[in-house]
Amino acid sequence: MSDITKETVAAAHAACVDEAEAFHEESQVVLAKHFNTLAELSADTVTVCDKCLTASCWWGELMCEEAQNAGTVEMTVEELTKLHREHPSHWYHGELKEARDQ
Ligand SMILES: [Zn+2]
Repeated sequence: MSDITKETVAAAHAACVDEAEAFHEESQVVLAKHFNTLAELSADTVTVCDKCLTASCWWGELMCEEAQNAGTVEMTVEELTKLHREHPSHWYHGELKEARDQ
């Protein structure tokens, strides 16, 4: 018979919850940065594709036709807000992704 008991299942679940909470906390920091202080972040820079000027392209989410030959450029939140090419959440998506992959 297997050694799986209520206790081992509970321990595995607790470890899983710990991991989820750790990621949740990191995500909250990034999300707070996005939702609460976007105006204060006007000088913050975001890496975007230099052809279509979107971060989602740079992160490979929605790649433009020229993505293969594209480079990157740093844009400020103020500039990106004026361009309004994508939802601001894409600008910080990369940070969320890095936090998750660590
Ligand atoms: Zn692009």
